[in-house]
Amino acid sequence: MRVVLLGTGCPPPNPARRGPATLVSTAAEHLLVDCGSGVAARLLQAGVRAFDLHRVLLTHLHSDHLIDLGHLLISRWILGQNAPLRLWGPVGTRRHVEKTLDLLDWDIEMRREHMEQRGRPEVTVTEIDEGPVLTLGEVRVTAFRVEHAPVEPAFGFRFDGGGRGVVISGDTRPSDNLIRSARGADVLIHECTDATKTSWVPGCGWPTREAKVAALAAYHTQPDQVGKVAARAGVTTLVLHHLMPGSGAAELSAAAARDFAGKVVVGEDLLEV
Ligand SMILES: [Zn+2]
Ligand SMILES: [Zn+2]
Repeated sequence: MRVVLLGTGCPPPNPARRGPATLVSTAAEHLLVDCGSGVAARLLQAGVRAFDLHRVLLTHLHSDHLIDLGHLLISRWILGQNAPLRLWGPVGTRRHVEKTLDLLDWDIEMRREHMEQRGRPEVTVTEIDEGPVLTLGEVRVTAFRVEHAPVEPAFGFRFDGGGRGVVISGDTRPSDNLIRSARGADVLIHECTDATKTSWVPGCGWPTREAKVAALAAYHTQPDQVGKVAARAGVTTLVLHHLMPGSGAAELSAAAARDFAGKVVVGEDLLEV
């Protein structure tokens, strides 16, 4: 099982860290977790053409995790074949895909005008809850709920197979269910969205900077919390992603290492973990 961080950023645009996306590959198949900004280009940089990818899992429906699903979907159709894109995600995923295909309808029909015998893009959607999701060759994929209220449900995923256990947190504050679900994994890829690095301007939705920082910190995991999560889960390696543009690698790894004796890796786009 090969795991590549395609995008390690979060909502603020950041050329160095594209939106959340992680590639999980076996010898036979590729699977993508989330479709943040820039995912199709990052996928290509990781050596996978968009039309060679047939499976996508979504952790939740926040825009930073699926803003480029439409780009991926239409790119693999324009460039490739009609192999269906198979999607798994929380309730609401089917509606999102239907609306995305509606939005692309004019483009799809215009392109079909000068193609021959070309069907429309096919997407199958499975709306999931906790539990087994699918198998990818020898790798079993399991979903578990995390804590990202008011987003309900939001999921993390665990991959077991090929002698490894790898967990991807999705967006969450420190979650007991994640800690249970990640127990004994080799690699925990966990979000670390430092709320103190956020920007604030009048009219942005919070009356003060302090209010915004408190609100973001309440549904994301902070640098001084993520090491405790990894220690309680008993994982070997902690990889940090979903990082703010102002977060520095040295600062993050020092914060995580205060509570976690294992290996800490600050994620970078295209890093294999
Ligand atoms: Zn996010
Ligand atoms: Zn989110």
